[in-house]
Amino acid sequence: MLTVNAVAAPSATEPLIRTTIERRDVGPNDVLIEIHYAGICHSDIHTVRGDWGPQHYPLAPGHEIAGVVTEVGSEVTRHKVGDRVGVGCMVGSCRECDSCRRGEEQYCREGNIGTYGAVDRDGTITQGGYTTHVVVAEDFVVRIPDGLSLDVAAPLLCAGITTYSPLRHWNAGTGRKVAVVGLGGLGHMAVKFAHAMGAEVTVLSQSLKKREDGLRLGADHYHATADPETFEKLAGTFDLIINTVSAGIDLNAYLGLLSVDGALVNVGAPPEPLSVNAFSLILARRTFAGSAIGGIAETQEMLDFCGEHGIGPEIEVISADQVNEAYERVLASDVRYRFVIDISTLA
Ligand SMILES: [Zn+2]
Ligand SMILES: [Zn+2]
Repeated sequence: MLTVNAVAAPSATEPLIRTTIERRDVGPNDVLIEIHYAGICHSDIHTVRGDWGPQHYPLAPGHEIAGVVTEVGSEVTRHKVGDRVGVGCMVGSCRECDSCRRGEEQYCREGNIGTYGAVDRDGTITQGGYTTHVVVAEDFVVRIPDGLSLDVAAPLLCAGITTYSPLRHWNAGTGRKVAVVGLGGLGHMAVKFAHAMGAEVTVLSQSLKKREDGLRLGADHYHATADPETFEKLAGTFDLIINTVSAGIDLNAYLGLLSVDGALVNVGAPPEPLSVNAFSLILARRTFAGSAIGGIAETQEMLDFCGEHGIGPEIEVISADQVNEAYERVLASDVRYRFVIDISTLA
């Protein structure tokens, strides 16, 4: 057992504190990773605060992990000491069901094992990346290409793959019109990816406040959704809309922006049910869908794509002592566009 420094929530209602947690011994198929950077995802906040159900505490969140391999188990073949690697939202799955065999471990029929706050195979509760080290089965560890620095790579492991996967699945590319709803941690990555894939990209944001950013990140057009004219002007326009907003939206208004056969894909998770008028779908054979992160193979593909295209998130690096302050700023949408914890400040 390895005792390591961590930033963790002692309960659902208290701020995160510095503490220690334990990591299992490195098994034959495990790698030990010295974490250099961990991104802060909105899900971390929801989870530690119990918004998505009761948790075991103390809980160290963090599922955007980038670091270096410092030890490998006797049977490890994919990674070696010194490799730059990442870990995202899951650290295990059944490996046998149809989803797992297809390389879509995120849709494992048994449920994938979340990187933190989940029951691991040995019955312990998983702990995330706001820690100096993590032990992970080698097949849930991905390589970070040389061209990507570790701080920039970290948010790709959740925000990156969550937007990359639906863009690929619904064929964002040359000749396709893609809209991104919301320009935050997820949205800004969706814009960069869709642009790099060759699509014509539109940002749909509440106001025009971040318009310059949106255009700089690769958007071709930028519209305010607070302006009702936007929905008239753009009716029937898009092949694909990626909705990154986790607050409720007027789904029928957004569905009306889709072309025939268009798809509106939710990657944000609003707490309340959304209401769909069947005619919003029927009259143009439209699809309303959802998408969760991506499989391990696709996560690797996404990182390689980022390496090739020189793409990464816009980040603000903080120290371990700034996590609580960062949480408040995430909740206030006051970050452009992702906080990343410099884990060397935890040592
Ligand atoms: Zn996340
Ligand atoms: Zn499975």
